Amino acid sequence: MQKVTLIPGDGIGPEVTEAAVKTIEAAGVDIEWDRQKAGIMAEKEQGTPLPREVLDSLRKNSIGLKGPLTTPIGSGFRSVNVALRQKLDLYVNLRPVKTFPGPVGDYEDVDLVVFRENTEGLYAGVEHKVGADAAESIKIITKKASRRIARAAFEYAEKENRDRVSIVHKANIMKLSDGLFLETCQEVADEFPDVGVDDCIVDNLCMQLVQNPEDYDVMVMPNLYGDLVSDLCAGLAGGLGVTPGANLGDEIAVFEAVHGSAPDIAGRGIANPIALMLSGVLMLKHLGEEEAAVRLETAIRELINESEVLTPDLGGEAGTDEIADAVVEKL
Ligand code: NAD
Repeated sequence: MQKVTLIPGDGIGPEVTEAAVKTIEAAGVDIEWDRQKAGIMAEKEQGTPLPREVLDSLRKNSIGLKGPLTTPIGSGFRSVNVALRQKLDLYVNLRPVKTFPGPVGDYEDVDLVVFRENTEGLYAGVEHKVGADAAESIKIITKKASRRIARAAFEYAEKENRDRVSIVHKANIMKLSDGLFLETCQEVADEFPDVGVDDCIVDNLCMQLVQNPEDYDVMVMPNLYGDLVSDLCAGLAGGLGVTPGANLGDEIAVFEAVHGSAPDIAGRGIANPIALMLSGVLMLKHLGEEEAAVRLETAIRELINESEVLTPDLGGEAGTDEIADAVVEKL
């Protein structure tokens, strides 16, 4: 039986993970869940938001399904999410965004895949005060990290028969750091003659995505831009409640929704669990459970298309559990 590390996480995390687990099991896959506490509860109980047992469990099982983890703003511990990605070398952040049929989102033909570099850039955590009135964050771009995220994007494009990879950067201003990222991605592109390539400056890309999202396909970019652009893409196709994601390394894969712990709605039973369920679809594909993955995705898409049982973020009145039950019934 496949063992998977399950991190319920903070805020709406426990609500949406339970819903996702229910539907993944109903898709017909035998999984033994190894439940691990991280985030605020772990910090309170064990003095650290990322206990060693969590990392050990992920290293042992190689696969994880994770709810969001809260990061205090300004002071307190650094982001547990960033630490997890760095410690396990989960260098790919994959965020596919696809329009749903029916009532969700204002666009019809969005089918975008963001590959975000996950370990360095402005999230490397090299930050310090300079005297009392200034602070410095250092952006780190290396050839090694740029090459492997580019390779992941081009390999994906080739395997999934996608037409083109756009390299996203700001090399006009950050000539050395983003210049190195762009140049390295272009070198990798030469290894994939069947996949088209172009490059795009990130601010212009944001405007183009809002006006003509159908003009884009797979996109690869450094950490910060990936964080921002993937939320923008989520907004094009139904919002954070329906956008899945994956953090991938060479050995370990952790699947999680793009959204955070949503403290404004936590504990109210109205969080949309579909983003995490779709992260479960990505997990099932990764595990080679293609049939179960298609079944689960089809059930979710049907539910959205019927637009009878939807959470408030999609204009409905249903709760988290009702969505899970409705998907299970379809399965
Ligand atoms: P957020 O994604 O938690 O919430 C943004 C908005 O979207 C809120 O209005 C929220 O109610 C809504 N929303 C998010 N997910 C939803 C869902 N499943 N169903 C319905 N509505 C949903 O972003 P935030 O408020 O900026 O961050 C809150 C906390 O989450 C912060 O501590 C942040 O650091 C953390 N965070 C964690 C992750 C992660 O664990 N990967 C990702 C992003 C943010």
